[in-house]
Amino acid sequence: METPAPPMLGKERLRRKCAVFRRAPDSNHRIGLFIFEAMTLHDKFGRQITDLRISVTDRCNFRCVYCRSADPENYREHDEILSWPELDRLARIFLSLGIRKIRITGGEPLVREGVEEYIARLHALGVEDLSMTTNGHLLAERCERLIKAGLRRINISLDSLDPAKFGRITRTKSFNTVMNSIDAAQSSRLAPAKVNAVLVRGLNDDEVESFAEFARLRGVIMRFIEFMPLDADRHWNRGLVVPAAEVHARIHARWPLEQIPHERSETARKYRFADGAPGEIGLIAPVTQPFCGHCSRIRLTADRDLYPFRGRGQRRGPPH
Ligand code: SF4
Repeated sequence: METPAPPMLGKERLRRKCAVFRRAPDSNHRIGLFIFEAMTLHDKFGRQITDLRISVTDRCNFRCVYCRSADPENYREHDEILSWPELDRLARIFLSLGIRKIRITGGEPLVREGVEEYIARLHALGVEDLSMTTNGHLLAERCERLIKAGLRRINISLDSLDPAKFGRITRTKSFNTVMNSIDAAQSSRLAPAKVNAVLVRGLNDDEVESFAEFARLRGVIMRFIEFMPLDADRHWNRGLVVPAAEVHARIHARWPLEQIPHERSETARKYRFADGAPGEIGLIAPVTQPFCGHCSRIRLTADRDLYPFRGRGQRRGPPH
């Protein structure tokens, strides 16, 4: 039975509170959010929203084969993208509504000039948990500035440990640069870095054990994400999904894993190596074990749309 919706404020107050949102012209997505009298944010299923992903740009310096941000034809005009003052104002509003964690994403967030300054302003506003998802191309040289600005955690995308395959997926020659960024993050206050791999059957599922070994050698948190039907070219089908249970079984057979307790709202099931090796494994299974019931996240796109984290109606975009 559907959870009764919490009481809504008057439309006028809601409109004023969210006045800064101007919907993208082609958007038909409905924002099912309610604001309680106590000024916390809940969705229409009564889940309290505490985590916000802010996409600061739709652009990227990679050209990943499955991603909407890879194609310059999809880029919005600059005046369609939220400006820094608008993003500042939104951050203040969301913090007043109980948002405690903010993750900066893209496209690739580091391609937008001014991202360190934005992070510093968020830090000054008192965001408890500031993190970023990046493809790692520009991270090594920016790591210290980001930390100084207030960044505390980093997720780096890496879909293959094979430089040639990495090149085919991202259509770049940036494998070594990304590896250097992982090393830079690991030797900084951002350690342990989370390294995200989206597994696609027949593309990189042969690398599960190699990724696990990478976690053990580098001490990173290696996260395997099931391929979701958000790919730009709509090639997704269920046969391309590598179930998290399979990933767990394969790694566990080689290096026994022990589960680490997690918060209900966390998307990843986390594991350590039973033999005490460094590193962790995270399994994110939005297809085979949907976690939406406990989700506390929303996503703000660079062009002014607001989405549930991984929900029906989410727009196609980066899979990480
Ligand atoms: S998947 Fe990530 S790194 Fe690749 S093109 Fe999309 S935004 Fe860029």
